[in-house]
Amino acid sequence: MHPKEEGFTWLSSDGTRASRIDYILARDSPPTDARLTPVFFSDHAMLSCMLSLSHSVTTGRGLWKLNCSLLEDRELVRQYREHYKEWQTLQDSFDTHAEWWEMLKRRTQTFFKQAEELIHPDQACAVPGRKITDSLLLIRDTICLARDRNFRLVVLNLDFEKAFDRVSHQYLFQEREPVSPVHGLAFGEPSTVWCNVNHPTLTNRLRDMSWMVAHEILQVRSVMHSRGMAANSTCPRPGCGAPETVRHLLWECSAAVDQWAKAGSLKFPCLPAREVLTAQLILYGVSQKQDCSRDFSKQWLTLAAIKDAIWTSRNLLVRRHMQIPPVTVIQMAAATIKSATRHAQDTATKKNRLCAHSDEGAGATRERSKQRRPDSPGGLL
Ligand SMILES: [Zn+2]
Repeated sequence: MHPKEEGFTWLSSDGTRASRIDYILARDSPPTDARLTPVFFSDHAMLSCMLSLSHSVTTGRGLWKLNCSLLEDRELVRQYREHYKEWQTLQDSFDTHAEWWEMLKRRTQTFFKQAEELIHPDQACAVPGRKITDSLLLIRDTICLARDRNFRLVVLNLDFEKAFDRVSHQYLFQEREPVSPVHGLAFGEPSTVWCNVNHPTLTNRLRDMSWMVAHEILQVRSVMHSRGMAANSTCPRPGCGAPETVRHLLWECSAAVDQWAKAGSLKFPCLPAREVLTAQLILYGVSQKQDCSRDFSKQWLTLAAIKDAIWTSRNLLVRRHMQIPPVTVIQMAAATIKSATRHAQDTATKKNRLCAHSDEGAGATRERSKQRRPDSPGGLL
């Protein structure tokens, strides 16, 4: 570097190298009062000058730069090659090679500009490369996390098309009337069904299942088949052959009939007699005769646990070819009820301890160390 020389617009950070890399080029109006001002945020200096123009300025189109990431798209590159071959055949119709070359540049620019503006129909708004399916995976993972850690979760999943509609978000959180209708509900209010789905006695796992039952989206074969994700909609129970709907799985299938018979009022005294048990009661927790809330809590937890056990046994049959006898299914349900009840008691005790903590002082800490951890509601699914 020559310290006496001037006019360098760029300096390396250690000051050993310099360059005249930045220019102002002018044709008819020579710049005056040109100066260089160092700026703290850049290794380039600010170059300023005065230009006296005889007429107003016309701004050019600016430079176009190819977004190189487009070249990673093989299909796009293949299409461009095809176009290029066609454009090559046009050389004879231009007077000079330079004119043809200009045309080629223009068309190349148009081709890639259009490609850049194309957005995949599944792309989530404003997030390039992210698709609608990513949000589904995100929701699935969040539900998994909530289930593992046993915390309550509310997911508000807005359609991306609607996410930018001008609707107050507060409005969306308000309780709307009427609530979604429940398919096949002969009596009972849909709102009762949605309250039952989220009933406080249920563990998160049982709430998830009740929610999917009420929406008729539990992943039974008829649901999966309608989404193109199962080869057929037939019930997997040997010799059944009926379409496996949610109602079929939990109520109509001969396997379900056996299980409800086994459950009977003897094993679970809070369940009504077999003759009084209806599909509406086991699926949605609604019946013509509504029990008092305490009895209902017990009954609803029992029904949910049995449904969960039926679903688990069905999955073991499909995935591991295991035939679970009805008596084992009922034992699984009994274990779920026990663990859910213990969890509810632990939660209640914890709440009481928190209230009592200020009075007890150091005693509360000793108590807490004896406390049993709540069992995870997770299991086979
Ligand atoms: Zn069946």
